[in-house]
Formats: sequence, C-alpha cells, structure tokens
Amino acid sequence: MKITNITTEEYRWPRHKPISNGLHTYTHSGLSLVKIETDEGITGIGLGGGGLIGRATVQHLTKELIGEDPINVERLWHKMWIPKLIGRRGLTTRAISAIDIGLWDIRAKVANLPLYKLLGGFRDRVPTYIAGGYYEEGKGLKELAREMEENVEIGARAIKMKVGAVSIAEDVERVKTVRQAVGPNVKVMVDANCAYRYYQAIQLAKRIEEYDIFWFEEPVAADDYDGCRKLAEATSIPIATGENEYTRYGFRDLIAHNSAAILNADAKILGGVTEFMKVAALAQAHDLDIAPHGSQDIHVHLVAAIANGLILEFYRDSVDPMWGKIYHHTLRLNDDGTVSPPNVPGIGVDPNYENLKPYRVS
Ligand SMILES: [Mg+2]
Repeated sequence: MKITNITTEEYRWPRHKPISNGLHTYTHSGLSLVKIETDEGITGIGLGGGGLIGRATVQHLTKELIGEDPINVERLWHKMWIPKLIGRRGLTTRAISAIDIGLWDIRAKVANLPLYKLLGGFRDRVPTYIAGGYYEEGKGLKELAREMEENVEIGARAIKMKVGAVSIAEDVERVKTVRQAVGPNVKVMVDANCAYRYYQAIQLAKRIEEYDIFWFEEPVAADDYDGCRKLAEATSIPIATGENEYTRYGFRDLIAHNSAAILNADAKILGGVTEFMKVAALAQAHDLDIAPHGSQDIHVHLVAAIANGLILEFYRDSVDPMWGKIYHHTLRLNDDGTVSPPNVPGIGVDPNYENLKPYRVS
C-alpha cells in the first residue's frame, strides 16, 4: 500500500457567544482535517493541520510521504520529525500529529478494527467529564449553576469549570456555586489555563479544597514545572497538566519534576497517536494516569485503549452551534455517564460535508 496524496481542509464558524477561560477568548469554533489518500482506495482522516503554518507544514511533509506505506507509522513519524526544522514543539509538531492520526485511521481501517481495539482495547465504556463553565458576557452565578444542572440532567458524572479570569474571591464563589449545583456525588474539576503564578494558585487551591475538587488543571505556565510542583506539595487537590506539552521528551521532564498527578496528554498536539502511546507507557511506568485534553473524537479511542486512561474530556452542544452536525456519527453520553468509541473500522470520523460546506475557509 502506498500514499498517493495528502490534502488539508479547514472549516470555521462563529460560536453562539464568545467564551473565555483564564487567559483567552474564543469567538469561533472549527474543524481542520488532513486527508491521506492511498493507492488501495482507503483514505485516512487526520485531525488538525489547520492555519497557515499547519497547512504549509503538511504540504512540505507530503513530498516526503508520497510513495511510502502508511502502515509504517514508526518509520514515517521519524521521517517527519526533523528537530532542526520541523519538530520539538509548536505548530509544526501539531501538523505531524494531524498526519500521524490520519495514518492510524488508515492502519485501523486496513485491520478492519476500531482504533481502540487495534491499540489495546482495555475498555469500551470510557468515564467522561463535561468541560465547560466558561466565562461569558451576561453569565452570572445563576447561569453557571444552570449550565451545571443541565450537565447532570444529561447524565454527566463529572464536570469541569474555568477559573483564573476574575479575582480569587470571585472564583471561590463560582466554585462553591458549581459544587452546590451538582451535589456531592459529581466530580468537579477546575482549569486555570496557565493563568496563575504558583503562589496565586496556592491561594486559590487552599480556599477551594473544601469543595472536593477532583483536579486543578494547568494552574501555572506550561513550562513552570517547579511552580507546578510547589503547588502540588502545598495542596491536597491533585494537579493535572500537560495539554501544552510535546512528545515523550516533554512528558519525561514533567514527570521528572513531580509536577502533576494526572497528565492531560493531547494526541493532536504532542505528536499524534504514535507518540501518545509512548507517553501513556511512560506515565504507566510511573503509576500516573492519562486524562487527555481536547478532541473527544480521537481521545475516546485512546482512553479506551490504555490501562491508565482515567477520564475523557467531552464538549457538549452548549459550546458549539455545529455540535451534532459536524460528523455523520456524533459521540454521546451513555446512561452511566460514559462514552463508547464508535464500533466501525478506523477512528470513525466521517465529516458531514453538506453541513460543513458553508464554513469552508481553505
Ligand atoms: Mg485545559
């Protein structure tokens, strides 16, 4: 089997309302795809590879990959990884990730297996949390509480909210409101998206410990391994981080600093499925759990595949007006608050081009 062509597609649409976390505001949502065509008619779909740099990197790498056998993921990952030019970190490594995900889609389609089965098949119901609790204009404590009550009504057993954009006192009130809204039996996580210095994070952590917080995510800058460790030593709340970490080398350093109890690895960022599985094994050797960040469509397979997969991040309709319309099959919560990977060969990502067409940007 040989790769004959690789192309990118990008779609972008406005959100209902801009949403903000501790540091950033997002006005739009979207979808970026890498399509890998082969001489046997099987096409792999990779997630990511968008934006000027992403597209340019994919185009550059395409020349290297045409004629290669897409099944040889280890060989192709190393062919793409050129530390002087493309790799180590940043948008170029995200482009490698997108292509690698597409190669694994082909691999699983050839094997006629859902990706999670091909990778190890540890479970087929994945514990899940609903990510939300953003800052929005006109959203007060009452609206925040309502959002969380709805999450519980649709079956969530765990939820996550943002902190870090307002004063610590205000965020303490928000966390208290959310805990009261969901009751004592739902897991509550908080996520600062790197908004704090470590001493501020300690102040917040001390004041929300009483609300039984399942984890405190990305409290400080992604490179502040020591700050993260100081916080971890100062609070009983487990620290989660890693969504802005790249490759097995980045996770090696994060682990070496004893910075986090839970690793938010993201296959779309850190180097694709090939590299994710190495990070998962590295974490496993340290008895650490993986709770991936972002894309539920790829990560439902990866949490299902590994023994140290803790929980899946899940975005629902409230944050994206195109939710349920992007793919022909949309992941939904099971009755027990878990999510199951689609039982079709590959990743099971089947874009609904009719719905997406009006939003094509490149
Ligand atoms: Mg996060």
